[in-house]
Amino acid sequence: MKEVFVTRNPAEAHLVRGLLENAGIAAVVENDVLTTGVGEIVEAALPSVCILDESRAGEAEALIAEWQREEPEAPAWECPKCGEKLDGRFTSCWECGTERP
Ligand SMILES: [Zn+2]
Repeated sequence: MKEVFVTRNPAEAHLVRGLLENAGIAAVVENDVLTTGVGEIVEAALPSVCILDESRAGEAEALIAEWQREEPEAPAWECPKCGEKLDGRFTSCWECGTERP
């Protein structure tokens, strides 16, 4: 496993994981505060995305870099189904999959 992305935002980690999996790169989110408990966040345990096939690290990093460049200036929104608050760059709720209205 190789860590390719670290963020303070677990939603962003899940987004990046989806981005990589869409490209056929198997990835997992580590230190997800949603599963480990919010009180346990420490500097050394930020949510991170790891890929299983280290030989694809370059490809993964290029995808992430491209995604970060394309980050739109869209307003934040709230999921009408589950109430999750989402950054403007999300086009669907990462929690329940509902499309942005
Ligand atoms: Zn939702």
